[in-house]
Amino acid sequence: MPVKEIMPDLFRLVLPMPFRLEHVNVYAFRGNGRVSLLDTGPNFPGTFDVLKERIREMGNSIEDIGKVAITHFHADHAGLAGRIQEVSGATVLIPEIEYRTIGAYQEGEERIGRIGVFSLEQGMSEDSVRELKSAFRMFRKATVPFRADGFLREGESVRLGAMNMEIVKTPGHSRGHVCLYCREKGILLSGDHVLPHITPNISADLLAPDFRPLTSFLEALRVLRDLPVREVLPAHGEPFTDLPGRVDEICSHHRERKGLIMAALNKGPKTSMEIGTILFGPDLDAFNQLLAVNEVFVHLVELEAEGAVVRVRENEKVVFRLKAKG
Ligand SMILES: [Zn+2]
Repeated sequence: MPVKEIMPDLFRLVLPMPFRLEHVNVYAFRGNGRVSLLDTGPNFPGTFDVLKERIREMGNSIEDIGKVAITHFHADHAGLAGRIQEVSGATVLIPEIEYRTIGAYQEGEERIGRIGVFSLEQGMSEDSVRELKSAFRMFRKATVPFRADGFLREGESVRLGAMNMEIVKTPGHSRGHVCLYCREKGILLSGDHVLPHITPNISADLLAPDFRPLTSFLEALRVLRDLPVREVLPAHGEPFTDLPGRVDEICSHHRERKGLIMAALNKGPKTSMEIGTILFGPDLDAFNQLLAVNEVFVHLVELEAEGAVVRVRENEKVVFRLKAKG
């Protein structure tokens, strides 16, 4: 169902996506005749019209949007904020790190250059990296620039419709990702941090080499696990209720993945790409190769911090091997 009223004046709007993810959920809160949104959907052809239609189905119009809050910088969450702001004058709130990351993406080629260097070092082929760079150039259009009117900060709260939402910092999927928590209703809007069926992609942050995405992701999950939550409203997939159960599944998934990576390295030193091919198969397109490389790389960074693996440079590539015992 494309529009579902989860409780009075809180709606889940499902927008289509062209990827394997298939859709993204935007949450709309109504109060005093105005509408507040959490996340926006991407600026892909036609998506803004779908969003307008969904808001009409709620009985409101796009001009009624007074506030937009954003969980993180990815285009499927922030892409339409600029267009909404243009037609409705809405206030846009976002974590500061995420706003800066969007700015860095919009500026020229530097970021794309960094992605290219990283992908080559991690073992992707020159052809794949070329394909990847052109995909990222196109992807830039999926986010329309907007003006941030305020930043979402840990420990503060934000009002969406009639609900008071606490801002919970959940770095991992992206460095400044936040979830919103309504203590009164026991509702957690989890963005991409906790999803019902898949684990979110965890990537190196090329603007912050010291950031440890997987450690941060798992730590933030443990904090969420202790919150009294009745229902989780994720950015992809259906709402669900058993948050502690889902957190435990995700944690054991990452433990298993570390084990698989250790097993691959047990047969000899490898690049992230070589391990990614073993884990995810040889038939990935360039974009999915990058996702695979990142997924492997963030686990390798943890294994390195634990003293289980070391990285060495071989020519232009970064190769990981098991640390000799003793
Ligand atoms: Zn995301």
